[in-house]
Amino acid sequence: MSINNKVVVIMGASSGIGAATAKLLANKGAKLSLAARRLDRLEAIQRSNPDATIKVFKADVTDEKAVQTVIDETVASFGRIDVLFNNAGIMPVNKLDQTARNEWQQMMDINVKGVLNGIASTLPVMKQQKSGHIITTSSVLGYEVLPGYAAYSGTKYAVRAIMEGLRQEEHRNNIKTTVIAPGSVKTELFNSINNVDVRNSLETAMQQPNSEMLGLDPEEIAQAVAFVIDTPANMAVNEMIIRPTGQA
Ligand code: NDP
Repeated sequence: MSINNKVVVIMGASSGIGAATAKLLANKGAKLSLAARRLDRLEAIQRSNPDATIKVFKADVTDEKAVQTVIDETVASFGRIDVLFNNAGIMPVNKLDQTARNEWQQMMDINVKGVLNGIASTLPVMKQQKSGHIITTSSVLGYEVLPGYAAYSGTKYAVRAIMEGLRQEEHRNNIKTTVIAPGSVKTELFNSINNVDVRNSLETAMQQPNSEMLGLDPEEIAQAVAFVIDTPANMAVNEMIIRPTGQA
């Protein structure tokens, strides 16, 4: 089965990479369940793709019951789940000496526990099907640490470790795992930065004509997600790093 008719759940589908992936997969004939906190954004995607099969869910990935409902209702409607895309994330960057405990808590809850909630709810379905594919968005900051990004990097290293553990535990059950690790992408992610100075300096850097931070479009990352979904049954792309060519 190629992407046409595959059942794909996207956590964090309301903007950026998740929304772009939803639109691309809808065009390729996937059956989609889209989840995020901003239901209006998900409904707009649904409206702009009237021929596609799309269910939408207002769900916070930190709420295990809400995540379970997304998975249960997807199976009730579509009969199976071929792909879970754990994409929800925030990036309230700050130096460690700012002791931003609330930000740390939120980031760990969304970026790490949210991924675990998705895996926990979906794995029993995929094990029963004896097939499935779990994709999680990490980052180039899941491979390197920069000043100011330590806590965020910690969450993105963590999800790589979790995905490698998942691969080792489940590859014999015909469950594929993929880590998507983007560099800079032009999305709404900076909106989650509370430190105004950090946010302004990043936004200024990104607006410089030759900035290495000139990000990719989210549609370009969506192409990568579609590629890993569209691989033959015996082939799993376990990790994919995608930087703008000019990014260090
Ligand atoms: P956006 O801010 O545009 O998208 C983030 C998505 O996550 C939104 O759909 C948002 O939906 C969702 N989300 C956030 N918190 C929650 C929550 N508690 N429950 C459910 N959904 C949630 O940014 P991106 O598209 O850039 O981010 C997508 C992923 O890509 C993230 O994991 C991010 O860390 C990662 N990434 C991004 C990079 C970039 O440069 N942009 C680079 C590397 C990785 P809502 O607010 O409606 O809940």
